[in-house]
Amino acid sequence: MASQIVERTQEENGALVLFSGGQDSTVCLGWALSRYPRVETVGFDYGQRHGVELECRKRVRAEIGRRLPAWGGRLGPDHMIDITSFGAIGATALTSEAEIEMLSSGLPSTFVPGRNLVFFVYAAALGYRRGLSTLVGGMCETDYSGYPDCRDATLKALQEAIRLGTEIPFAIETPLMWRTKAETWSLAQELGGDDFVALIVEETHTCYRGERGIRHDWGYGCGTCPACELRAKGYAAWRASAVERKSAR
Ligand code: ZN
Repeated sequence: MASQIVERTQEENGALVLFSGGQDSTVCLGWALSRYPRVETVGFDYGQRHGVELECRKRVRAEIGRRLPAWGGRLGPDHMIDITSFGAIGATALTSEAEIEMLSSGLPSTFVPGRNLVFFVYAAALGYRRGLSTLVGGMCETDYSGYPDCRDATLKALQEAIRLGTEIPFAIETPLMWRTKAETWSLAQELGGDDFVALIVEETHTCYRGERGIRHDWGYGCGTCPACELRAKGYAAWRASAVERKSAR
């Protein structure tokens, strides 16, 4: 399916990574930096409760330049887009003081309806201007598929809509779509080795509560919110499988 178009754009153009400063989008950034000669990042300020996420973005980018110079040379500008008016519409737990809980719909109260659709449309408009026709996002169906705007079918349809709506053969790439959280750690190791894993542990942010007080083996966070639990479980499973592989040798 349209693979010729995608290959051509990969050769000629770079990638724009939807980058939040979290674990998943940082692995996606590494994935893009290991494939494309030119990579830029875009972040969205939609009125997040925790500005800590926005701080992490800067540090992750700086640390990539310092610890992984081959990638650093490919890393272009960062773009920040203010979409606080959108955040105001989806006023839920991430953007207001409401408690984070599971709703009767089966979705967490942190869900902002259509958020990823909005991100990609903005990214496409920016990519159009920057000459970047591959858009990379860390959406994933494997561990948690409650967010309908993270699903593969949604993003395939969106890719088609963006292509039609811009007359540019944009490709939406989601390298984590079918990986578990443990497999995402293992991908990080494959892409950038121990340095990249250490960078992810130290500098990326996942916690819904925006806490960075306690350092766990998997990084900083409250340790009890759904995002921390997922990250901790994935890290433990990845470490366990790495130990198994070593002892099997
Ligand atoms: Zn947490």
